[in-house]
Parts: sequence; structure tokens; C-alpha cells
Amino acid sequence: MSNVFPRDTRISPPVAVRGEGCYLIDSEGKRYFDGSGGAAVSCLGHGDAGVTAAIKDQLDRLAFAHTSFFTSEPAEALAELLIQHAPGDLSRVYFVSGGSEAVEAALKLARQYYVEIDQPERSRIIARRQSYHGNTLGALATGGNEWRRAQFGPLLLDVSHIAPCYEYRFKAEKETAHEYGQRAAQELEDEILRLGPDTVMAFVAEPVVGATLGAVPAVEGYFKRIREICDRYGVLLILDEVMCGMGRTGYLYACEADGVAPDILCIAKGLGAGYQPIGAMLCSGAIYDAIASGSGFFQHGHTYIGHPVATAAGLAVVRALLDRGLVAGVTSLGEKLDDALRSLLGQHPHVGDIRGRGLFRGIELVENRETKAPFDPSQKIAAKLKKAAMEAGLICYPMSGTIDGQKGDHILLAPPFIMTDDHIGELSEKVAISV
Ligand code: PMP
Repeated sequence: MSNVFPRDTRISPPVAVRGEGCYLIDSEGKRYFDGSGGAAVSCLGHGDAGVTAAIKDQLDRLAFAHTSFFTSEPAEALAELLIQHAPGDLSRVYFVSGGSEAVEAALKLARQYYVEIDQPERSRIIARRQSYHGNTLGALATGGNEWRRAQFGPLLLDVSHIAPCYEYRFKAEKETAHEYGQRAAQELEDEILRLGPDTVMAFVAEPVVGATLGAVPAVEGYFKRIREICDRYGVLLILDEVMCGMGRTGYLYACEADGVAPDILCIAKGLGAGYQPIGAMLCSGAIYDAIASGSGFFQHGHTYIGHPVATAAGLAVVRALLDRGLVAGVTSLGEKLDDALRSLLGQHPHVGDIRGRGLFRGIELVENRETKAPFDPSQKIAAKLKKAAMEAGLICYPMSGTIDGQKGDHILLAPPFIMTDDHIGELSEKVAISV
């Protein structure tokens, strides 16, 4: 019996003892292909010697120095590297220990910004339905995932939710993708006007929606229109790239594909690639300057922010992603994976859709391929699929959700960027066996 409080008390998970490249190995010696990188974490695969060496080296020099007193060399170097490649005016980095903390820090920074510039009435947040932004209370209130929120209400923040941009589900028959994207973005303007523009502080969205929808990018033009609307009403754009960022979609920052830069950007998962818990919030110079020339003190912080070992790991990860050409290779690997999945599953009676960007792919599972009718939730398809996949030696990320009242199941694939063509074949075959 496990003494660790498990996430799911109904199952007893195998004990993971080793990680080698694309594989995890349990205490019985069974090998699992890590097809989802945990949950879009392990972009470099397991056992990367360079990252391990960087962590050991940092531990030998300095394990910890509290940020009330010090900054550190790896934190400074990592911030510089992240900014060098960041879109727009993102020019300051605030390190935290994970994705929820990054979102939490972004929300508090947005709020403090408006207080500092004398617009304290701006406190409302707009996000999207069927979204996930983390599990701490502020991040949970921001997400529009009814299932996760249900038992924790009343939630602490004033958040309203508009529809996600999901072409495959919501585009009208005669509409072009562009027209649909503009219509979806219009919901933001309508909601800002409904609430009163002077009361809204931020709009929060994932450029490519991960866990809740299964790798769904927005249509071309959607985020550009969102950016215009935010600018028109002085609403900050917060992009949550905790899952889709750090090269996963073929761009170091996922929003590059949409041609927009946010005011605040959240990253985590792939930043530490599983070697250390780390996340970050990047903010524009304008926001930073407002705090610096105002109270001069960001009213937020945790003990482990800017941790030297975590930032040393992040630095080694980002250097590996860029210097080894791994981000540059993601688009073509993603296309090969997409081809392989389509040839094995494109005609499968229970596969409704295969979509995504780069090495961030979603497979929708439906009862009826023609009508796209979902499975009855009592069938617990996602849970069954996870079990079948683990038996077949595959880790993939299954989810059951509700998209504007409609139930649905999907699996998310987010494999390491170090995959070879053989790995693509193995991954897609294991997915096909499990489905
Ligand atoms: N935002 C998004 C988009 C996520 O996918 C997640 C985690 N799945 C989070 C925030 C929260 O990150 P963490 O689990 O590291 O707190």
C-alpha cells in the first residue's frame, strides 16, 4: 500500500524507477513510451546528461539563496535568454515553481498594475469556457472547466467566460475559418461592453488549448482580433502557455504562430522539462515600469521563486532546445506524427478528429464517426483508454470534457522532441492498439 496520497485513490499506479530518452521504466522492468511527456512536460525526454550535469554543477556551487536578499547567476542568465527570444515588449521575468503559480502571479500583477496606475475599479477577468489555467484558487476561478470548479464555489475572483475558438465544433457551415475566428473574438468585445470597459482588467487564454479540448489551435486571425479588442479597451492580454509553450508547437512561444504578443505570458512544464519544478511569468516593460515607478514593490512572492537549481535546470533546457535545433525540428516531426496517426486511425470508427500543432496532438474519440456523437459519459472511455494504453506500454493523456454542454473524450499526445522516425512509428502503433 502506498503512503503517498495518490491523485486517484481508486488505482494503485506502478512505481517509476528510471527514465531513458522517450521511455519510462517501472519497478517490474516494464517500459512505457512516454507519448504525452507526462502532461507536456518532458520535451527533452528522460535522462538528459546535459541538464543533469548543469543541476549537479549548480548544487555544488549554490543550492539556495532567498530572493529577498539575492538574485543568482542561473536566474539572470535564464531570464536573459527567455527575453531575447520573447515576442513584443516582454522584458522582465518572474520565476515561480510551476504553472498554477505562474498564472496566479500574472493575475496579481495585472491587478496591482491597475491599482498602481490609479484604475482600481478594473478587477474583472474574462477567460473562456472549457479552459484550464491551474488548480490554485485564483487559477481555478479563471479556468472555465465546470467539472473542476463545481465543488469549490463560491470561487474568489470575478471571472466571466466566453466561448473558446474551436473551428471544428463551432464554425457555421457557410462561414470561412476567418469569418468564424472574427465572430468568436467578437464575444470578447461584447462581454467587455456588457461588463463595462472600465471594470475589466484582463483576458486570459491558451493559444493552443491543451488538457481541456485536446490540442485545439485558434483559427488564423482570431488572436490578432483579440489583441485589437484588448488594446481598444485597455484590457491586458494574458496568454497561458504553460502547456503549449517552450517549443511544443514548433515555436519557442506558441503565440508566435498567431502573430501576437501578450502583455503577460505564463510558461512552465517544458521550461524545466521535468528536471526541476519551475515556471515563469514574463511581463511587458510598461507593466514593470508602472510598478517600479509606483510603489516599487510587487506584492507577491513565494519562498522558492528564482530557485538557483531550478533556474540552472531551466537554463540548460532552453539552451538544449535552441542550440540542438530541437524546436526547429518540432514542426516536421509533428507533421510526420500527424501523417502516421491519420494513416492508422483516420478511418477508425471511433475517431472523430485528429488535430494539433507541432508535437502537440489531440485525438477525439466518438461513439459515431459520421455524426460525431460522443460516448455516453457512463462508459468512462478516457479512463478505459488510459488503462489499455498503459497495458500496451504507452503513456498518453486521456481527458473527458464538456464542450458547451456536449460531452466528449480525447487523448493528448505531447512526446519528447528527441523522437526519431522509428519512435514515431512505435508511438502511433501503440496509440492505434490502445484505441
Ligand atoms: N495552465 C495550463 C494551460 C495547464 O495545462 C496547466 C497544467 N496542466 C496549468 C496552467 C497548471 O500548471 P501546474 O500543474 O504546473 O500548476
